[in-house]
Amino acid sequence: MIVGVQPLAGFDKLLHYQVPEALRAQLRRGSLVRIPILRQHRLGLVLELGAVPDVPESRLKPIAGILHEYPALTPDLLELARWMHTYYAARMEGVLEAMIPAAVRDGARLKQDKYLAAARPLTPEELAVLARRAPQQAKLYDFLRQQLQPVKKSLVLSRLDATAAVAAALVKRGYLREELRNFERVAYAEGWAAGEWVTTQAPPLNEEQAVVVASVAESLARRKFAVHLLQGVTGSGKTEVYLRAVEQVLAAGGSAVYLVPEVALTPQTVARLRGRFEAAGHRTVVWHSHLSEGERLDGWTALASGRARVVVGARSAVFAPVHDLRLIVVDEEHEPAYKQDETPRYHGRDVAVYRAKLAGAVCLLGSATPSLESIANVRAGKYRLDRLTRRVDDKQLPDIQVVDMRIEAMRTRGLVTLSRLLVDHMHQRFERREQIILFLNRRGYSSSMQCRKCGHVEECPHCSVAMTYHRSDETLKCHLCGHQRGAPAVCPACAAPDIRWRGLGTQRVEEAVRRVLPRARLERMDTDTMGKQHRFRQILGDFRAGKIDILIGTQMIAKGLDFPNVTLVGLIDADLSMHVPDFRANERTFQLIVQVAGRAGRGDRAGEVVVQTFTPKSDAIQFAKRADFDGFVDAELTMRKNFNYPPYRHLIHHLFRGPNPEKIKFYTEHWLKQVEQELGTLVEIRGPSPAPIEKVKDEYRYQIWYFTTRTAQVVAGLVRLQNGFAWPGDVTQVLDVDPMSLV
Ligand code: ADP
Ligand code: ZN
Repeated sequence: MIVGVQPLAGFDKLLHYQVPEALRAQLRRGSLVRIPILRQHRLGLVLELGAVPDVPESRLKPIAGILHEYPALTPDLLELARWMHTYYAARMEGVLEAMIPAAVRDGARLKQDKYLAAARPLTPEELAVLARRAPQQAKLYDFLRQQLQPVKKSLVLSRLDATAAVAAALVKRGYLREELRNFERVAYAEGWAAGEWVTTQAPPLNEEQAVVVASVAESLARRKFAVHLLQGVTGSGKTEVYLRAVEQVLAAGGSAVYLVPEVALTPQTVARLRGRFEAAGHRTVVWHSHLSEGERLDGWTALASGRARVVVGARSAVFAPVHDLRLIVVDEEHEPAYKQDETPRYHGRDVAVYRAKLAGAVCLLGSATPSLESIANVRAGKYRLDRLTRRVDDKQLPDIQVVDMRIEAMRTRGLVTLSRLLVDHMHQRFERREQIILFLNRRGYSSSMQCRKCGHVEECPHCSVAMTYHRSDETLKCHLCGHQRGAPAVCPACAAPDIRWRGLGTQRVEEAVRRVLPRARLERMDTDTMGKQHRFRQILGDFRAGKIDILIGTQMIAKGLDFPNVTLVGLIDADLSMHVPDFRANERTFQLIVQVAGRAGRGDRAGEVVVQTFTPKSDAIQFAKRADFDGFVDAELTMRKNFNYPPYRHLIHHLFRGPNPEKIKFYTEHWLKQVEQELGTLVEIRGPSPAPIEKVKDEYRYQIWYFTTRTAQVVAGLVRLQNGFAWPGDVTQVLDVDPMSLV
């Protein structure tokens, strides 16, 4: 038998191999194999069985081995890979690497660790002798004697500050026993911080939920591809609907994939899935980048073997090799985090819909603020809309108050961080022992520094963006490339001592809060403080347990959190997301306000939201204030239609970068002529123009936008032209199909 193998080793070309007799039974399409290339063994993925090579069979080499008992990609995933390869103009190899976790590709076997345990109880005499002659050994033995189970060797040695020689001596005496252990590592098994509350019993559905669950159940029972868009206000019990759908699939013997924008931010969702299904004997595999290699491989094997049938994870979990896929849930489907910003630049939600189509499964998209793309698909009759219009138990949606910061600034003649209204409310809530969340979509102390005299704004020398001031270590940092320098005391341009800080950062908010409520216990959550994931979970756990009064954070904490005692939410600067050169700025702002507001009043007490803005009359803010999703959608879709923006057309971004701006310009203009000639009837072209951020890491950037309704055809055409175009070595270009951010 001959097979066609896609190497995962930097050859973007299908190669042919023979299959030795011994490997035939186990080999499948989608199997990961070792193949000889240039006298080395490299990794490859079997794409074709019974392929017809273009050289005589006798000259083909045999594959050297198969990596896993199970194929890495199921038939629907192989199809999906081909689609991603063409639709996103991504190299096949890159697509496969994105689909198969590194731990699986490395073929890492289950890692075994060395463990130590006391071999037998020592007599008092033996102990005394040991303590006198080898106190280090005595200490180690004594510690292990008290443990109920063997302890990981590396852990106990570092904890007791003992060397491997000490352990070896004890093993030699027969006092300790060393063994290799091979635990099934279960991510999140240690449970989540104290105070976590997990329902294991399904609550009875309310009327609206019952209607939606029935609607989804009908599609699931039909066993045909269908997309449901569940639009449910925050706290309306969408998660319960997802759980019921998963339950139905499990009962029928199928598998479900459950996507969330970011697993680290949704430990509650993981806990709810586990709480519901683990008791019934179904293991829920958690799939995300913070897992150790061993954890990843364990989880993957459980899915690939069919032992586990539920997986929850961020966008790459859409590639989980589950058997008999019947449901993909995409929670918070509007989240830009579903788009991968490196190649392959795929959108997790769109890939989910396509995979569901290939597998004949149901895709259940859910959000309080669905994307306009999905709404357009509903209006076009492609998706079915299900709605939850009320919060569970008819809890009130929070009252949104908009503060005009222009007036605040006039009153105080300066920069205001917290408006009087917000401060008043904070005092009230704090006195009542209720909790507060403050959102600010920017980390650091303030956004940038500007000289009052000459107006100079300090920029990163490598990237054309303003540097961000970080008070904690008195530095300016570039949030693009990480470049940093000490914060200057005088203006670097004119030496005036009058430097002021423009804009706000989470650190500055923290300082302002400490001034108005010095007794409050507060924590700040942003990517600066959140280097460590366990720290993150600890803060959320403490907040839930009531050990923290006020939580200050970036948008990263706006997603999906459910804290019943939070009654006040402040959005410090609603303008940050609105005044950016991106046609989705309104949509983002609307979504942000509604999502942020969704964190308030989820318990028994009503919630309140204060939105601070310099542009209180803007549509996004007014519609959000009235919780008028349909009104917003109508206004926004009219605007999109007028400009022929997505969802009315697709957008393709073409970025060109390199050290020499003249050269880039010259070549892009030349390139454009060809595109116009070959694809002119299919696309509308904008550019070339300098990218919004003209320089990053010392490279200049130009861009072209293509607008089209014939995406697949245009992408294919662009790739064909690219391959025939003589690009100079120092101009790099990147195609991004359906980009989610324009800046
Ligand atoms: P959403 O995902 O729409 O924001 P959730 O699914 O998190 O809402 O539900 C909000 C809260 O209501 C959760 O604590 C959930 O356990 C609870 N809940 C959901 N459905 C019901 C129900 N039918 N009866 C009682 N409580 C429910
Ligand atoms: Zn930089």
